[in-house]
Amino acid sequence: MTASDAVTDALRELHARFAGMRGGERADYIPELTRADPDDFGLALVSMDGHCYSAGEADVPFTMQSVSKPFVYALALSSLGLDEVGRWVGAEPSGEAFNAISLEPRTGRPANAMVNAGAIVTTALVPGTPDLPAFDRILICLSRFAGRRLDVDEEVYVSEAATGDRNRALAYLIRSTGTLDVDPVAAVDTYFRQCSVRVTAVDLAVMAATLAHGGVNPITSESVVSPAVAAQVLAVMATCGMYNASGDWLLRVGLPAKSGVSGGLIAAGPARFGLATYSPLLDPAGTSVRGHAALGALSERLGLHLMRNPALPGSTVTLATTADVLPSAPASRQERALHERVGIVAAQGALDFTAAERVLYAMDESGPEQTGSVVLDLREVTGADSVALTLLHAGLARLAEDGRRAAVVDPGNRLGPPDLVRERTGQDLPRYSTREEAVERCAQALADPG
Ligand code: GLN
Repeated sequence: MTASDAVTDALRELHARFAGMRGGERADYIPELTRADPDDFGLALVSMDGHCYSAGEADVPFTMQSVSKPFVYALALSSLGLDEVGRWVGAEPSGEAFNAISLEPRTGRPANAMVNAGAIVTTALVPGTPDLPAFDRILICLSRFAGRRLDVDEEVYVSEAATGDRNRALAYLIRSTGTLDVDPVAAVDTYFRQCSVRVTAVDLAVMAATLAHGGVNPITSESVVSPAVAAQVLAVMATCGMYNASGDWLLRVGLPAKSGVSGGLIAAGPARFGLATYSPLLDPAGTSVRGHAALGALSERLGLHLMRNPALPGSTVTLATTADVLPSAPASRQERALHERVGIVAAQGALDFTAAERVLYAMDESGPEQTGSVVLDLREVTGADSVALTLLHAGLARLAEDGRRAAVVDPGNRLGPPDLVRERTGQDLPRYSTREEAVERCAQALADPG
């Protein structure tokens, strides 16, 4: 955290803008939560490089409450897999309040893991052993998400346990209607403890950033859950994280999020950042009033809506032409005619599916005739994921089938190990370290097809 920088300034500005908001009430059905200071208002943002920015009361501790739910869901998914977890808890927005007494009519499943009924089931699914009881496993997992050892606020736990009959009723209902063999007393007790785990806004921002970062904590670099599990959790947060306000939240703010009745709120920008706010005054849906306002404004101001800008890569293909127009083209008319039949496609940046499609399209279009050669220049490519590699290999194989020679400028070996390339493209694809050399070889081969 630096004293002043543009990101901190943006958070401070939001703090100043919304700190005066007086609407909302503290949750009072857990008596201990009414002791929270209504003026507390903290904001924190953690980037994928682990840079941490904050403003206001970002170091004030409070209990996680429902913000714990996505992380325990992540633990259950990691332990049992999506299919098994999905047998016991659904992934449909319920359109109901967080503590609704309702289960799917036919199966007895709770609608999703973000409402209390689903969270109680999720918690009950976390395996426990005498050596490592389920709650210890949960606390270890939450701590790894936060990158530091978290603890339980015993007063809040006792307070919730003393007044938690509605959640107990839910647990008994789950046992009576479903086939899941839950011990209602134990499940609810573990759930109350998980809700009472103490964090700060900065902790929550690190936790959200870990989900956004494919399950790898950007501060500690520890892999907490797999990229697949992180994506599954973010998906359920996007559709169900804000209970009966989830649709409106996704529409207006456009980020996977989760709120809790102590006033914590997290939002995650996949592959971009983790955000958290803390302010205990809640709206009727149980979401922090200032947190909602601040994240909405931040999303608007920084253009964070997930659907608005699906990470459009700038330009992937930097050059799509023929070798005769390059500055290095030979002077003689005869040689130029050969160079005219050598297409050049140069790409840059990180190649994923979208970028690879652009490269393939350019390769297909390159060259004035289908009998010419193509030089694919990958010098400015910084990386390629497995999907992009598979597509590029298939594209190069197709060129060969069409009778077109390809050469790749690839000093950084972006195309993958030669064995794999040979297997996928069906040829010993020549790879060069300079574009001139690749063009020259292709032109020579065209001059002398034998
Ligand atoms: N512990 C709270 C409860 O079960 C959590 C609810 C919430 O944060 N929305 O009622």
